[in-house]
Amino acid sequence: MASFDQERHNGRIYLSPPDVGQAELMRIQEAFTENWIAPAGPHLDAFENEMCQVLGGGVHAAALNSGTAALHLALKLSGAGPGDEVFCSTFTFVAPANAIRYVGATPVFIDSEEATWNMDPELLARALRERAEDGVLPKAIILVHLYGQGAHLDPILEICREHGVPLIEDAAEALGSTFKGKALGTFGDFGVFSFNGNKIITTSAGGMLVSPDATSVQKARFLASQARDSAPHYEHSEMGFNYRMSNVLAGIGRAQLTTLDQKVAKRRALYDLYREALGDLPGIGFLPEAGKDAPNRWLTCVTIDPGTVGTDVETLRLALEARNIESRPLWKPMHLQPLFAGAECYGGTISENLFQTGLCLPSGSGLTDDEFARVVQSLRTNWS
Ligand SMILES: *Cc1c(COP(=O)(O)O)cnc(C)c1O
Repeated sequence: MASFDQERHNGRIYLSPPDVGQAELMRIQEAFTENWIAPAGPHLDAFENEMCQVLGGGVHAAALNSGTAALHLALKLSGAGPGDEVFCSTFTFVAPANAIRYVGATPVFIDSEEATWNMDPELLARALRERAEDGVLPKAIILVHLYGQGAHLDPILEICREHGVPLIEDAAEALGSTFKGKALGTFGDFGVFSFNGNKIITTSAGGMLVSPDATSVQKARFLASQARDSAPHYEHSEMGFNYRMSNVLAGIGRAQLTTLDQKVAKRRALYDLYREALGDLPGIGFLPEAGKDAPNRWLTCVTIDPGTVGTDVETLRLALEARNIESRPLWKPMHLQPLFAGAECYGGTISENLFQTGLCLPSGSGLTDDEFARVVQSLRTNWS
């Protein structure tokens, strides 16, 4: 059951709209009643604690006003600054690459592997070997778990450990995904989550930085609150940021978190249903099934083999759009973005090819059976 008023949206089917209800409203009400409208408040601490529990323990958490802010602070805490390099998945949303620029560091992009669509461990190993030979290692590696699919973690963790380079997991799209039973975002030195409106759960805007290191998380809270030293007046010896999440939004987050399992179950079910309903189409591919993973299937993505199918991604997208259905090409790799023209990239053809041939389908946890049927029918009709 879609939890928002479809009439207001003219029956449009969105890619991943917010899925909120009465419980969220009650939490906001509570914040108002208790007059905890100022940024700090009890929901904030509670949201951080509940998030740590959901992630299975072993990490501390700082609630922030975006996932991008969490990436920025993770890089600062890793010591990245001007003149440093930071490695980053090229197949991603722009936020992690921008955060590298925020600290004045230089991004070096790494292509994906076919098996997971995420960072290729062999390319990462090669890039790190070359840097080690030159005697200057990157300050950090940002590994993105795209579409909630876990990257090939075992070799990546080993390579990072071998070279002593901090790993930042961008799990913005991967809340509720696990690898060998452990939550994504809890394997690295830092994990980053987003509660933007289109993510698995939302606070309308927000993010979380997690780390097994309590001191780092404490420092993140300090930096996120204008780096105010302990004194009765306002005393500052370090440059800080205004990155803290507000208590009202943390209240929404707490309510959302209680339905995380259902939301993940629904998205996973949608992925299975799409495979069932579309799997026989010639030349269709899906984000691969991952072995020891339980991905959250944030978005169901299909690929279209241009040699087999008489249509392409853009034609299909426009055909869906004509029926008021939102779909979107896969992320355009960072090394193809004008913003990062000239940046170094290891490999590149895998993500380029995915961008050329892939489409994200409506995958919201509020998608109804009727809406699902409409998407499937539109795709089948326009496939060739
Ligand atoms: C959404 C997203 C972010 C940024 O999160 P915001 O909360 O929107 O700042 C970072 N990385 C990836 C891969 C994302 O999808």
